[in-house]
Amino acid sequence: MTRPTIVWLRRDLRLADNPALAAAVARGGPVMPLYIRDETADGDWRPGAAARWWLASSLDVLEADLSARGGRLVRRQGESLAVFREVLALTGADAVFWNRRYTPAGIARDTAVKAALRHAGIGAQSFKACVLVEPMQVTGHVPSFSRFFERWRGLREPVPPLAAPERLATPALESERLALLPPDAPFWTPKLDASWSIGEAAARARLADFVETGVRHYAKGRHLPAAGHVSGLSPHLAMGEISPAAVLRAVPERLGFAFIRQLAWRDYATFLLFREPLLPERELLPGRRAIAWRDDPAALGSWQRGETGYELVDAGMRQLWATGWMHNRVRMVTASFLTKHLLIDWRYGQRWFWETLVDADLANNAMGWQWSASVGTDAPDFVRIFDPVAQALKFDADGAYRHRWLGDAPRPAPIVEHKAARARALAAYGAADGAVDGAADGAG
Ligand SMILES: Cc1cc2nc3c(=O)[nH]c(=O)nc-3n(C[C@H](O)[C@H](O)[C@H](O)COP(=O)(O)OP(=O)(O)OC[C@H]3O[C@@H](n4cnc5c(N)ncnc54)[C@H](O)[C@@H]3O)c2cc1C
Repeated sequence: MTRPTIVWLRRDLRLADNPALAAAVARGGPVMPLYIRDETADGDWRPGAAARWWLASSLDVLEADLSARGGRLVRRQGESLAVFREVLALTGADAVFWNRRYTPAGIARDTAVKAALRHAGIGAQSFKACVLVEPMQVTGHVPSFSRFFERWRGLREPVPPLAAPERLATPALESERLALLPPDAPFWTPKLDASWSIGEAAARARLADFVETGVRHYAKGRHLPAAGHVSGLSPHLAMGEISPAAVLRAVPERLGFAFIRQLAWRDYATFLLFREPLLPERELLPGRRAIAWRDDPAALGSWQRGETGYELVDAGMRQLWATGWMHNRVRMVTASFLTKHLLIDWRYGQRWFWETLVDADLANNAMGWQWSASVGTDAPDFVRIFDPVAQALKFDADGAYRHRWLGDAPRPAPIVEHKAARARALAAYGAADGAVDGAADGAG
């Protein structure tokens, strides 16, 4: 008789289009879906509060979906390999399958686990599931997104759908209670409930709705934060409640080219982090590592609370706090404002987004911040500094977005004056570039 197979679930909390799960079911024996909360697994980037809030519900939904098929979800806490040793001994499983992740800490952990399991005679196998093109498929020099996109289009292959298993037999094993939510959760995250339906079925419904109504307006409408023409799929994709392959299959290329390009940006971020594990820590552009950021906790607090006096910035920061999500255009404007108008280190903004975004993704977030601060790849020339007032007039002309998040309350006075802030940023960026040029001249 086939011995049990463990499916190690991470950011792939779904039953359909899940290659590791499908391969485990295909072996014919019992299958044990296992989620391990491993505090040591993510280095400095343990999931933030909003992501943990999402994760807690997502695991509950997955458990219900598994129960409906006769299976169950086993939850455990502890260092991954120690958990495996215990669970393998208890179940007699002889194989562990998982879908690959690509963060530096994730790769290190998975490589170590795979080696240890194989050494112990356990069949450890990993699968591609979380991206459309894996970072290691793209070789050679890739200087920009447009080059990546060309390569990506050539490498992308149609992935046939994998149905969710109809029945599952899971070995009886106790779950542990996972303390996922931070202690301050009662004061903040519960209000996120109003904005989201969590889980695989909800992700599919959102995709169906977007294909039905949003995608045809996406190319133009995606820049307008009030319009609702974006998919809102990011937290579902971040937690793996839906696969990018399923999203791609549902969107016809003739209708959804601009949208599919954004899926390529997602893979590009994963690729950048794979190539440069320090992406969340260090500027990709060496010339920008010497920027003299300002230490200004009061201004950082005003930005976080949405009290800068710039309406579009404040509306975005309040949308983030209220819903755990912010429209992409406004993410760019708020990030640019923090780094250029306030001249505050992008790493503070990145950390705030990490804690508060339900779609927090190490690669996307780091790339977005490096791009917005003009310190990374494909970044706009730093001389191009978004004017938050002009951006509001252009992308929220009737003020609907700003009104939605700011209401009729009196607006605070601007904490910086646009022209002066712009001049200060240009000087600081220019000085950093000059310092590097000077050093290069000196070396020559
Ligand atoms: C400063 C900053 C920080 C960001 N942090 C994150 C983050 O932590 N997690 C995250 O998922 N996205 C992040 N983004 C990218 C982008 O803002 C979101 O993916 C997008 O707003 C999600 O909304 P949506 O699902 O409606 O996107 P849609 O426009 O419907 O796009 C579909 C999917 O494509 C992917 N995508 C779209 N735009 C981008 C992009 N610019 N970069 C990478 N992937 C993209 C997302 O997975 C998204 O769900 C960040 C952008 C910036 C400027």
